[in-house]
Amino acid sequence: MKTITVFKGDGIGPEITDAVLEILKAAKAPLDYEIFRVGEAEYEENGALIPEKAFASFERNKILLKSPITTPVGKGFRSLNVTLREKYDLYANIRPAKSNAAVVTPFKDVDIVTFRENTEDLYVGVEEQIDAGTVHATKIITRRASTRIIADAFAYARAQGRKKVTCVHKANILKKSDGLFLSVFREIAENYPDIEADDKIVDNVCMQLVMRPQQFDIMVMPNLYGDIVSDLTSGLIGGLGLLPSSNLGKDYAMFEAVHGSAPDIAGKNIANPTALLWSACMMLEHLGELDVAAKIRRAVDQVLAEGSCKTPDIGGKATTAEYCSQIIGRF
Ligand code: ATP
Repeated sequence: MKTITVFKGDGIGPEITDAVLEILKAAKAPLDYEIFRVGEAEYEENGALIPEKAFASFERNKILLKSPITTPVGKGFRSLNVTLREKYDLYANIRPAKSNAAVVTPFKDVDIVTFRENTEDLYVGVEEQIDAGTVHATKIITRRASTRIIADAFAYARAQGRKKVTCVHKANILKKSDGLFLSVFREIAENYPDIEADDKIVDNVCMQLVMRPQQFDIMVMPNLYGDIVSDLTSGLIGGLGLLPSSNLGKDYAMFEAVHGSAPDIAGKNIANPTALLWSACMMLEHLGELDVAAKIRRAVDQVLAEGSCKTPDIGGKATTAEYCSQIIGRF
């Protein structure tokens, strides 16, 4: 049995976490859980968004399944997601977007994995008021951070039998910063003659993604483009409710849905737990529990393919609880 840490966050966080834990238990995932409330409610009651004992649990267990957390606006908080990524050096954000035949979108056969650098770029949060009408924001790109994310993207491509890695950048304008990212990409690509390597400018990528998304396989890019482009890829496959992610570092791993806390639908029992559930599958695969992950993925595919039990975000009328019990019924 492996013990993992679970953060229940804000908005739809608690309800999708409960659904996912119920499914993991029903699938007999060999896991024990240390579960913590984090986020706004925890802050209001105890004065910290993430309690110390929750951090300590993650530091012990090294694996975190995290639901969305709202960072209170206007109270001077740094984003909790950014804080966690920095504190535990979770440098590789991996976001697989794969079409599911049962979820109808105008885009078919999309199968794209985005590797987003997670620790630098404009996310370093360095902004400077120059004068009343001028603000500067700092974009940081380093050889070290670029090398590890790009190397991971190529290693993943080879391990998974994928064909191509595309570097996404704006090096025509940001000649030094994105220029460095691109030159590191070209250096590393030389070690992978078996994998096609190409690069594209980010605005062109956005256009190409909606014209012919099937041309993309693995994409690797700096932090901000990764944030935006991967949301775009979620739109190609049916929305944020279907996009899982892993955040990997050398010592720690965190698994979370890409979407936010969706306060507009919180507490209504209509949230789609699939993105968090697939994140949990990525976690099981990371832990070597391939059979349990495959069992859950199969059950989800069956329920979606059968068609009568879908949550409203993907065109159905089912509640979170109904969808969850349909999945459990397939084990
Ligand atoms: P954040 O700033 O934290 O990303 P946001 O409000 O910009 O938050 P989301 O919380 O991801 O973005 O929500 C965007 C839209 O997608 C909302 O309308 C929300 O209801 C919907 N949405 C997000 N996640 C889900 C989900 N799991 N199931 C159904 N709808 C979802």
